[in-house]
Amino acid sequence: MSAAPAAPSRIAVVGASAAGLSVVEGLRREGYTGSLTLIGEEAHLPYDRPPLSKQLLSGTWDTDRLRLRGKDDIAALGLELRLGSPAVALDTRTREITVADGSLVGYDALVVATGTRARRLPGTESVRGVHVLRTLEDAVALREGLATRPRLVVVGGGFVGAEAAAVACGLGCEVTLVTDTAQPMGDALGDELGALLRTVHHEHGVRIDSGVLVDEVLTDGGRASGVRLADGRTLAADAVLVGIGARPNTEWLTGSGVPVGNGVECDATLYAGSGVWAAGDVACWLNARTGEPWRIEHRTNAAEQGLAVARNILAGPERATPFDPVPYVWSDQYDLKIQIYGRTRGADEVRVVEGSTAGRKLVALYGRNGRTCAAVGINMARALRGYRAQVAAAAPLLTGSAA
Ligand SMILES: Cc1cc2nc3c(=O)[nH]c(=O)nc-3n(C[C@H](O)[C@H](O)[C@H](O)COP(=O)(O)OP(=O)(O)OC[C@H]3O[C@@H](n4cnc5c(N)ncnc54)[C@H](O)[C@@H]3O)c2cc1C
Repeated sequence: MSAAPAAPSRIAVVGASAAGLSVVEGLRREGYTGSLTLIGEEAHLPYDRPPLSKQLLSGTWDTDRLRLRGKDDIAALGLELRLGSPAVALDTRTREITVADGSLVGYDALVVATGTRARRLPGTESVRGVHVLRTLEDAVALREGLATRPRLVVVGGGFVGAEAAAVACGLGCEVTLVTDTAQPMGDALGDELGALLRTVHHEHGVRIDSGVLVDEVLTDGGRASGVRLADGRTLAADAVLVGIGARPNTEWLTGSGVPVGNGVECDATLYAGSGVWAAGDVACWLNARTGEPWRIEHRTNAAEQGLAVARNILAGPERATPFDPVPYVWSDQYDLKIQIYGRTRGADEVRVVEGSTAGRKLVALYGRNGRTCAAVGINMARALRGYRAQVAAAAPLLTGSAA
């Protein structure tokens, strides 16, 4: 692979969503006046995904409200905007992207911001009544599917599954959530807070089958009729939502020499070599502090990484600085606002330091080897912010209040 030029005059960004938008806005804000191409597979202007499983699904928002920027704001960026046609191949020697319509886009610096797509259960792609929830179209189709108040089985108890289950039961559906973890959102919250979430879901009428995998979706005349669980039981359903995580969109990079594993593998500055950078859900970068590769599927991370990549492209790979965030994610379910700073996965200790699970208002600190690795708040946004610095510093796990 050849070395990247110090001052790129043509920058291409592939992926026109939160991270891609943040890159192009960051570049212009930093004074970049060169050519800037934004290539997006979806025909829409960049829109926000978190409301898909919340306000859009519940019907509180219409699709227009999802737009991240108005047409005028996008026009003001002076982009060559190429929507509705994905990048299909990359040649890092000639520095050219091939787009599905057959055209080539040359670049000096390229940002991969192609995000992830929903994982599906094998063989369910064309089964009516089986949904995933990643795109605007997915959300609209699911919303229409829920309008008949079906018996809904949600496969997967992560963020998307738990949020959609909450909305669906609010819409009057009979909902069963099946998760292979012990508690809903058990991977992210652990057992104690997961148990609280389970209780709240139960109170709203969601049935939860935990610690069990779904083997297959059952069909009748090409329509979903239920699911078969790994323990042999079957659950009848009129609709199934598969919320079993997401896969990085990296296939188009095959043969390009860009290192791809669990996403685009970058150094601590989000640089993958050969003039290629990555941002957002697709980026797997070496965390300079922990020495671990991180790939984070959070909305705030996409925006922050986009800005960091914009700055680093302009600084050049030699003077680029490491991206070292405190990850942040939230989830809204019923009247619970769950917020997380840091990374809870791998925690070996959880301590509720303010409020209580009984009161459904709390801050819990998560520790790993005696150090704070995350802070989780439920309906205590302000208090939680006080613990952010403790997470950033990986401070010894405290027992008392941060106030
Ligand atoms: C239903 C749902 C709810 C969520 N809720 C929350 C939440 O509450 N809080 C939170 O922090 N995060 C949430 N997230 C995660 C958040 O939305 C993502 O972290 C964020 O969208 C990542 O932005 P991105 O730009 O990196 O990737 P994406 O949003 O995945 O965008 C990537 C874009 O690239 C396009 N693309 C893919 N391949 C190509 C190609 N070859 N050529 C051109 N374009 C391509 C895709 O079509 C897509 O438009 C949620 C996600 C979903 C799906």
